[in-house]
Amino acid sequence: MSPVVHAVAFVVAAAVLCAVALVVWRRRRARPVMAMSMALVLGAAAWWSLADAVIVAAPGDPVAGIAGLATFPAIGTMVAAFVCLGLSTNGSGSRPGRRLLLGLAVEPVLLTLVVATNPWHLLFYRGADAATLVDPNSWQHGPLFWVHSTYSYALLVVGIVLVARGWSRSPALFRGQRLSILLGSLVPASLCVLNLVGVTGGFGDPTPFGFAFTAVVVALAIGRQDVLRLAPVARDVLFATISDAVVALSPDGRIIDLNPAAERILRDADPELPAALVGLTMAEALVGWGSLDAPVETSRGVSSETLVARVVDGRRTELAVRHSALVDSRGRDLGTVLVARDVSAENAQHRELAEQLRTIELLRHDLAEQANRDPLTELHNRRFLLERFGPMLSRSGPATPVSVLMIDIDRFKRINDRYGHQVGDGVLVAVARRLTAAVPPGALVSRWGGEEFVVVLPGAGVGDAMRVADRVRDRCEAEPFDVGQDAQRCTVSVGVSSFPADGLTVVDLLEASDRALYLAKRDGRNQVRRAGPELTGAPEVTSGTVPGSG
Ligand code: GH3
Ligand code: MG
Ligand code: MG
Repeated sequence: MSPVVHAVAFVVAAAVLCAVALVVWRRRRARPVMAMSMALVLGAAAWWSLADAVIVAAPGDPVAGIAGLATFPAIGTMVAAFVCLGLSTNGSGSRPGRRLLLGLAVEPVLLTLVVATNPWHLLFYRGADAATLVDPNSWQHGPLFWVHSTYSYALLVVGIVLVARGWSRSPALFRGQRLSILLGSLVPASLCVLNLVGVTGGFGDPTPFGFAFTAVVVALAIGRQDVLRLAPVARDVLFATISDAVVALSPDGRIIDLNPAAERILRDADPELPAALVGLTMAEALVGWGSLDAPVETSRGVSSETLVARVVDGRRTELAVRHSALVDSRGRDLGTVLVARDVSAENAQHRELAEQLRTIELLRHDLAEQANRDPLTELHNRRFLLERFGPMLSRSGPATPVSVLMIDIDRFKRINDRYGHQVGDGVLVAVARRLTAAVPPGALVSRWGGEEFVVVLPGAGVGDAMRVADRVRDRCEAEPFDVGQDAQRCTVSVGVSSFPADGLTVVDLLEASDRALYLAKRDGRNQVRRAGPELTGAPEVTSGTVPGSG
């Protein structure tokens, strides 16, 4: 190959390397360690390629010698950066520490000092041409060259091992990325070895062209695999940063490992815990907590959740703890893993919500009661009675009769007129009380309106109903009502109807009892009457005092 073509090829390779290095550098935000190391490797390779261009273009000129020596600082920097690159492919937690960086910087600095100093550079290259800095391809290697080469190849091997390790351990999604970096590293490394052992002959050093290949692979990896933005998160980083507490227990229930969240929760709850939690049993670590279930059976996939709680300084901490059996691929028991989530706030919210629901339910019940009750007598009202009467009737049959009493206070208007409306109200309340006391349990007593009341007696046939009605009438008549200074006698008339004899529907039964009430009034009041169904003309039944006796 003509020296000019050869030199141009080196310049083109350097240009490609520079361009890709620039792209990588500008995209360093998401993965700074990987991007900066990669940019340094590519930049140093560009420098190397340019130096080789000068060497082939002007071998007889001292500038070629200077260029030959100038490749070494680039090579020293490149292998150091390559180790950092290898580290960066081993999970997001692997980044070079300050000491490592300082250590890696020592060789390139010393190397630069030696090659830039005359006559120290003769420790690197020997021979007459080396002294006059012409024709670098004819120089013989000095002792420092071999020291440097040994060191550089050692770092190269370390870097390749790291990259290969990163590739083999990476999650499936990142395999492609890692393989690109491995391939990009192996090609120039192999060419460099071939050059060292002299296989390349008169062609000169082909390593920069290997790096041009690396540059293309990196450019593709950026474009296709988003190598500088998509970074896997190491499992240990997840373990360390998740807010859920994770505790691994040995088969005999001792803590083998726990993450910072678990340690924080345990220590917050109990500051007296010993410095080392590893080795404690859960019972020892959870003194004062609500009891934790015994570790569950250790068979694959078995897990359960328990709630533990503890109050510290008035603050309640509640943890939902999930137990999962740890088993290896052969089903051997490795222990248990506990994952605990702080559910204090969540549960407090649930409790508050439940309390609010209870209040709402009470209010709703109160409202319904208000809507169903008569405010004066506190008896159920007509609305409630009509709502309940229908269903009560549909549950009845010939064997389970239902009876209705319609009760009206006799000559009530006179009480109002004589003692005033307020006293009238008092008498209404007193009648309601006597009524309630006179009927059997299970009876539905309601104020029908004004001075009228309706009582539904489930299970009561005609005979029972007549007896209850008479008891009501009797209780009112027997004792005078308190009307301020005076005591006033006051009676009631009662109309009785009964299912199924006097009607089959709510309306029929109410009408029948109303008709019966009318008969009681007609016959002189303070009476109990039953009227049969209007159409069938069933006979009236009389009970109570002789008409007109009240
Ligand atoms: P009868 O024996 O025929 O039933 O005569 P009565 O006076 O009881 O019947 P009337 O229908 O003529 O009068 C009923 C009275 O009841 C008229 C009304 O002022 C009174 N009244 C209705 N509701 C109330 C109430 O809530 N409080 C009071 N104090 N009086 C009421
Ligand atoms: Mg009336
Ligand atoms: Mg009346």
